[in-house]
Amino acid sequence: MPDTALPPQIPTTPVTPALLEALRAIVGDKGLIQDEPGKQPFVTDWRGSLVGNAAVVVRPANVEEVSKVVKLCHDNGIAIVPQAGNTGLMGGATPYPSHTGIVLSVGRMNKVLNVDPVGYSMTVEAGCILQTLQETAAEHDRFLPLSLGAQGSCMIGGNLSTNAGGVQVLRYGNARNLVMGLEVVLPNGDIWNGLRALKKDNTGYDLKHLFMGAEGTLGIITKAVLKLWPAPKDVATAWLAIRDPQAAIEILSEAHAASEDNVGSCELMSRACTDMVLRHIPGTQDPLKADTPWFLLLEWSSSRPKADGAEGMSEKMEQFLADQMEAGRVLDAVIAQNEAQSRNMWVIRESVAPASRAEGPGLSYDISVSISKIPDFIEKGIKAAYDVLPSIRPYPLGHIGDGNLHFSFMGPVGMDRQTLHQYSPAITRGVNDLVRDMAGSISAEHGIGIEKIDELAHYRSKVELDTMRSLKRALDPKNIMNPGKILRL
Ligand SMILES: Cc1cc2nc3c(=O)[nH]c(=O)nc-3n(C[C@H](O)[C@H](O)[C@H](O)COP(=O)(O)OP(=O)(O)OC[C@H]3O[C@@H](n4cnc5c(N)ncnc54)[C@H](O)[C@@H]3O)c2cc1C
Repeated sequence: MPDTALPPQIPTTPVTPALLEALRAIVGDKGLIQDEPGKQPFVTDWRGSLVGNAAVVVRPANVEEVSKVVKLCHDNGIAIVPQAGNTGLMGGATPYPSHTGIVLSVGRMNKVLNVDPVGYSMTVEAGCILQTLQETAAEHDRFLPLSLGAQGSCMIGGNLSTNAGGVQVLRYGNARNLVMGLEVVLPNGDIWNGLRALKKDNTGYDLKHLFMGAEGTLGIITKAVLKLWPAPKDVATAWLAIRDPQAAIEILSEAHAASEDNVGSCELMSRACTDMVLRHIPGTQDPLKADTPWFLLLEWSSSRPKADGAEGMSEKMEQFLADQMEAGRVLDAVIAQNEAQSRNMWVIRESVAPASRAEGPGLSYDISVSISKIPDFIEKGIKAAYDVLPSIRPYPLGHIGDGNLHFSFMGPVGMDRQTLHQYSPAITRGVNDLVRDMAGSISAEHGIGIEKIDELAHYRSKVELDTMRSLKRALDPKNIMNPGKILRL
């Protein structure tokens, strides 16, 4: 944890036995976890590198219980760490070691309340697992495009609170673009019911956007109305060996028209990342034994089923890839012939995070720049890291259609975590200065949490930080809602 010292403004009021009984009266025995082994998964982050504390984990069953718990905490100055699936990568859902308050988990609030296939919307509770929601939409012949490697365990409340990205942003936008309405419990316990299934609603400030991406610092999202799309019926997935990252962005640029606006995903993978997944994730197979440092996972999809004898996505893609080979951008390519082959390609892409956890200590930067600057960024960013530590191993990959790179490095072979982390500040400064110089973002989709709190303060203007602080103070004057995350007050 970068700064385990409690920032002074964080409330340290303890949960007294009387308050514990008051919490029990609200949520019942089923809604409280007090024993240390039971609390462990809630106070440890996904990577296992941050471990905090909580007096108790509170698991309300509905919005009324959330409201009463928050009001009790508000009246008594108890700090709350909201949590959903606990897959966040920036420590936002992890309490500080000296946290004396509660973790509030929304995991028991996991009902799909309504699916409206005609109106293309779905109303859900915050604790629904993302994959369950994708499957529910599919059962109604609809599509929920939010899709990411952690989808089997992350929950929609966490996805919206981090404004998650994933592999379909290119076409559908990030999490905030998929939302029509929200219900939120404010830091004083009031319930804001903004569950409106409206595409158009220009009635003053659009409050829902305040809470998405706020990482639980402004309130607790309890329900959402999500947008749905027609289910894909004709999908082509391909694994491309490509010349270099410049070829990747040119391929994407031409793919829009060639696919008739049906590009769903475009993911850049380095050979190093692919090999790391093949090493650590059982059952994965190399889709293409090509001798190149760069690959592209390209998916086109249409909601129109392929008619007999007509040209579908695969045939269009085949022609496109032939043209791209001719142009020298694609060196070799394979289009998945069945669901298993396509699944294998996606498992490779989605398993980079678990594989890197198994590989050993590393550093990772979730950055974005405008798409056309990606090749330059990769070259200069790797040089910036080599300047500090020449034996560091680059493992870049990214959602390049969004200008988003997971610009990752594994430590030199044999170097332990502690030693690697001595180099981290200098490498971080080099990489993030480059991001700034290229007018990019130091956090494209993972948020700020604890991990990037000092980097945000370093790179954002006083005006921007002061405006954020004003919002925080206006909504949460007692600073009980996920204190010490995103901003130091
Ligand atoms: C293998 C893997 C792959 C990933 N891939 C991607 C990816 O492609 N794109 C991407 O964007 N992210 C990715 N992530 C990061 C992570 O999955 C996302 O940030 C996800 O949206 C977090 O959801 P969660 O339910 O786990 O939230 P949590 O980790 O529980 O919480 C995240 C933040 O939201 C707050 N919060 C949680 N629930 C609520 C609520 N109901 N109300 C208010 N605040 C709340 C927490 O306090 C915390 O600050 C990945 C993570 C892993 C482990």
